[in-house]
Amino acid sequence: APSSSSSEKEVGLVCAIRVRPLKEREGRCVWKASGDEIALASEEDKKSSAFRFDAVFDATTETASVYDRVGREIVDGVLRGVNGTVFAYGQTSSGKTFTMQGGAAYGTGQRGVMHLAAEQIFSSIEQRPDFDFLIRCSYIEVYNEVLRDLLGDATSTGNKKGVQLREDPHKGVYVDGATEEIVTDAAGIVTLVARGEQARSVGATAMNERSSRSHTVFRIVVESKATAGEEADGVLVGALSLVDLAGSESVRHTGATGQRAKEGGKINQSLLTLSRVIKQLGDRQDDDEPFVNFRDSKLTRLLQPTLGGDARLAMICCVAPSEMYVEETRSTLQFAQRAA
Ligand code: ADP
Ligand code: MG
Repeated sequence: APSSSSSEKEVGLVCAIRVRPLKEREGRCVWKASGDEIALASEEDKKSSAFRFDAVFDATTETASVYDRVGREIVDGVLRGVNGTVFAYGQTSSGKTFTMQGGAAYGTGQRGVMHLAAEQIFSSIEQRPDFDFLIRCSYIEVYNEVLRDLLGDATSTGNKKGVQLREDPHKGVYVDGATEEIVTDAAGIVTLVARGEQARSVGATAMNERSSRSHTVFRIVVESKATAGEEADGVLVGALSLVDLAGSESVRHTGATGQRAKEGGKINQSLLTLSRVIKQLGDRQDDDEPFVNFRDSKLTRLLQPTLGGDARLAMICCVAPSEMYVEETRSTLQFAQRAA
């Protein structure tokens, strides 16, 4: 986050880099993480390639540590009625889904941010018996500027129901027709994530292409109400969006952000717009009423309630350390740098 005069404000943006382990047949590992810095390992490139962030996690760091550093505080806020978003950004195969959904499917047994957030929410609830809580979840996919309800019933064609964004003067932006499931424990959330993933793969002919070009937003809404005393009248509502973004290469290959991207065609309007919105949000501390282009894409519109206002944001930018992806990794670091 930019340094600003408003030191009494809570930190609104945390930008972290996560380096995944090198895989077989990926050649040499060329990036080196140390402290809060990442740079090309070779002596001659080191100076010109060094980037500094709020946190840099090397390949040995487990997801639980990443979560403790960047996610825990945001979820604390959500439990107190401050909205938040955690997203994973990066090229396809950089570790976004591993980070958000967990490595169970890959046999590492590492739980993902979704699971860890669920556990934090329910263990906090247990410690506050003087409050009644209601936890609702939804799971939406954004693909080619079309929204699908991943928890909805499948239609006869095997596709999940399409849903629409609407705006209500009281509710704000919401997804009309989206399934919301009430959950009563962390396992309930894990089950919903699995159900959504199952839904994603059904009927998708080119699953890999789709999963690298679509965004998923898992939203947890926490409502709380004191059971007695002065606070018993008001209901406190906090919402958390957990986002697994489309592969960042879908933007880079049209020329990253800016004018060239516009000319290159709209491969991923939502990802391009998100980059712009993050930048605008980063500037907001200097400006009381910043202009933010939430309306320019479905994803940013969908995320508006948990990005705008006093919402907090954690970006986990995932990178592969191999020499094969130097330019893609550099591009992710530059994206993160612009936002931070
Ligand atoms: P993405 O969602 O960005 O396309 P994935 O999360 O599917 O990428 O990760 C690609 C591969 O790398 C998977 O096989 C996953 O198991 C592995 N991987 C990613 N991050 C890690 C990590 N931190 N530790 C171990 N394996 C990882
Ligand atoms: Mg993925």
